[in-house]
Amino acid sequence: MTSSNPETLALHAGYRADPTTNAVAVPIYQTTAYQFEDSAHAARLFELSEMGNVYTRLMNPTNDAFEQRIAAVEGGVAALAVSSGQAATTMSVLNIAQAGDNIISSTDLYGGTWNLFANTLKTVGIEVRFVDPSDPENFSRATDARTRAYYAETLPNPKLQVFPIREVADLAEAFGLPLIMDNTASPIICRPFDHGAHIVVHSCTKYIGGHGNSIGGVIIDGGTFDWVKHSERFPLLNQPDPSYHGAVWTEATKELGPVAYIVKARCTLQRDFGMSLSPFNTFNFIQGLETLPLRMREHCSNAQAVADYLAKDARVAKVIYPGMSADDRSERTGKYLPEAKGGLVGFEIKDATEETGALFIDSLQMIYHVANIGDTRTLAIHPASTTHQQLKPEERLATGVTPGYLRLSVGIEHIDDILADLDQALTAAVNGTARAA
Ligand code: PLP
Repeated sequence: MTSSNPETLALHAGYRADPTTNAVAVPIYQTTAYQFEDSAHAARLFELSEMGNVYTRLMNPTNDAFEQRIAAVEGGVAALAVSSGQAATTMSVLNIAQAGDNIISSTDLYGGTWNLFANTLKTVGIEVRFVDPSDPENFSRATDARTRAYYAETLPNPKLQVFPIREVADLAEAFGLPLIMDNTASPIICRPFDHGAHIVVHSCTKYIGGHGNSIGGVIIDGGTFDWVKHSERFPLLNQPDPSYHGAVWTEATKELGPVAYIVKARCTLQRDFGMSLSPFNTFNFIQGLETLPLRMREHCSNAQAVADYLAKDARVAKVIYPGMSADDRSERTGKYLPEAKGGLVGFEIKDATEETGALFIDSLQMIYHVANIGDTRTLAIHPASTTHQQLKPEERLATGVTPGYLRLSVGIEHIDDILADLDQALTAAVNGTARAA
C-alpha cells in the first residue's frame, strides 16, 4: 500500500484478500488455536524464531488485519488490539513501568483513566504524577530518574483543550522518555505521531468502531522511540526477561524492525493478563474503520454547527468547543486540529442548578442519554453525576467537570434534527427550573 491517505488506508492497509478463500471482507477467524505443521514448527513459534499463530489470547488473523490497518492509519509501525480502551492504557504503562517507577500524566483525563492512575496503579507500586498541561514545562519539573513515560489525551473532554503534543514530546525526547497519547476523541483529525508522540492508544469503542456495538482498544507504536539508547530507563525491554527464557526484547526483535514494545506487550502482558480482543468485536472495528474518515467529517461539521448554535443562544451561559471558549489556547487548536475540531461539545445552561442539567437530559427526545462518545447517534450526559461521579469534588474540578456541565457527542443525523431536539430540551429545562423557582 503506497498511499498515505487515511481514506485509502482505512479500506486497504494490512489485508487484501483471504489467502485460502479470496474473501474480500476480513473473515472472523473465530478460533481459539491453530494447527501446528509439526513439532518443530510448534517449537519455532514458541521460541519466536518464526512468527505465526499459536493461540487467540495472543494473536488472531482477524485482529492482525485490524492491527496492521489501524497502525497504517495512525502512521505507526505495529499495533496490539486489546479488550478495551482501559486495557490499552493499562498495558501501555505496565509494558515499561514497574513497582517503584513513576509516570507523569496530564490532569485532563477520562474519569476511568484518572481512577486507574490515581488508585489502581498505586496498588502495584507505580506512582502517577498529575500535572497541569497548560504549561508543558510542568512535565519536566515532575520528571526524575524513575520516570518511565509521559501520558496525555489529544482532545480531553470535558475541557476540550488540545494537548501541546509537540511541546511535551520534545521534552520527553530530551529526558529519554516516550510520550503516550490517548487519541480516542480525535482519530483522523489529528495524528499524534506526526507531532512527535511515540505511542498512541485508543478506545476503539468510540469513533473507530463508531456504531456503539463493541468494546475494544488498541496500542500503536510509532516506531520512533530508541529504547536501546535509553536502556537504563527501560530494563523491561533491555534486560533478560525471566518469563521468556531470558529474552531481551530489543535484541529478540531486531530483525523485525522497531517493534520491541508491541512484541513484548503481546508476548508477556497479553499472555499473562489475557486482555484479548474477541475477533467478532474486531470485525466490527474493521467495518467502522472503513468509514471512519467519512464519519469524522460529519461528526465534526455537525459539532461545529451545534457549538455555533449554542454560542448564540441566550439560554446558554458557556460553550466549550476547541477554538471557541475564552480560555482555549487557540494557537494549539490550530496547530493540532487544523481543519476539523472534533465531535464533542460541552455547554452550561445559564443559572443552571443540578436540577436544570437533569431536566435537560430527561427532556431529550431523539438524543440518547448514555455514558459513551463517538457513536453515529448524538449522545448526551451530565458528567458530574455519572462518568466523573467517583472522583473527589476537587479531582472532578481539576478534570474540568463543573456541576452544571453537559456533554454532547454529536452524531451524524441531519443537523436540523439535532438542533431541534436541543432547542426543545433547553426550553423544557429553562421553563421547568423557572417554574420550580
Ligand atoms: N480513553 C478515553 C478518552 C475514553 O473516553 C474512554 C472511555 O470512555 C476510554 C479511554 C476507555 O475506553 P473503554 O471504555 O473502551 O475501556
